[in-house]
Amino acid sequence: MNNYHTHTYRCGHGYGSEEDMVKAAIDLNMQELGFSEHVPLPFYRLFLLKSLPHTLGSLHSFLSWCKAFILNGPGMRMPYKKRKEHQKVVQELKQKYKNQITIYQGYECEYFKEYLDYYQRLLDNQEVDYLILGNHFDRYPIHSYYYGKKKVDDEMLKHYQQDVIKAIHTNLFSYIAHPDLFMMGRNKFDDLCKEVSLAICKEAKKYDVPLEVNAGGIRKGLVCRNDEMVYPYNNDHFFHISQEIDNKVILGIDAHHPQQFNTKDIELLNQFVEKHHLNKINKLTFKKGNSH
Ligand SMILES: [Zn+2]
Ligand SMILES: [Zn+2]
Repeated sequence: MNNYHTHTYRCGHGYGSEEDMVKAAIDLNMQELGFSEHVPLPFYRLFLLKSLPHTLGSLHSFLSWCKAFILNGPGMRMPYKKRKEHQKVVQELKQKYKNQITIYQGYECEYFKEYLDYYQRLLDNQEVDYLILGNHFDRYPIHSYYYGKKKVDDEMLKHYQQDVIKAIHTNLFSYIAHPDLFMMGRNKFDDLCKEVSLAICKEAKKYDVPLEVNAGGIRKGLVCRNDEMVYPYNNDHFFHISQEIDNKVILGIDAHHPQQFNTKDIELLNQFVEKHHLNKINKLTFKKGNSH
């Protein structure tokens, strides 16, 4: 397989250098490897300041906000000024390992409307080869608006749908990472979950944006939800819908540690794909935004 979803220690919650990840991918005979760190954002502190009033209802949210503000990024993303260093390392690795593996530079991005022009510039300036959508947050990168939190209410879920669909329309994102992340915060795949999933799958099909089957969800193990044993994401009901719509799907390791490149997880990803008869692709076509 190829993998276009790779983090490093630079995001503040991962382990291993860029080179550690390359070596781990080569050990698994991968042909293509893409780095997709959580996108570093310019004027990040200003963006965080705007979000401050939204954190005041939750101590967890406020404390993680303080940490992000002080460190200007980590533990969610590398500081903006570090991006050149990361990109330089990836460039050097592209050359060093060019006879063994093809390496690409990407980032994993939320749909933050303030930053869409910046995302387009990253592609236009060829700072990156591709971007993927990892829509972790609703409007601001704060815990109370995290789509992977314990409880995602109906209003938040509707925002998720709207933002993912708007993101698809930008043509900036080559695939949608963990498209069903919201199921972390829903006990039951109810009518609204069904409606949201159907809308996302249909739009992704129309705009030819693949959906990811994500090893991060599998690494969390099976959990009991509404009397069913399911992965917290890579939800069976979501991917049943995507099979009916005939979406393209792609595997993603979502590696935060070199050991997460392993045959056992890849086997589980493939079992999930086979169970749902999904239309799996291996090679990603990079989208370049609407300015092209
Ligand atoms: Zn993600
Ligand atoms: Zn990720």
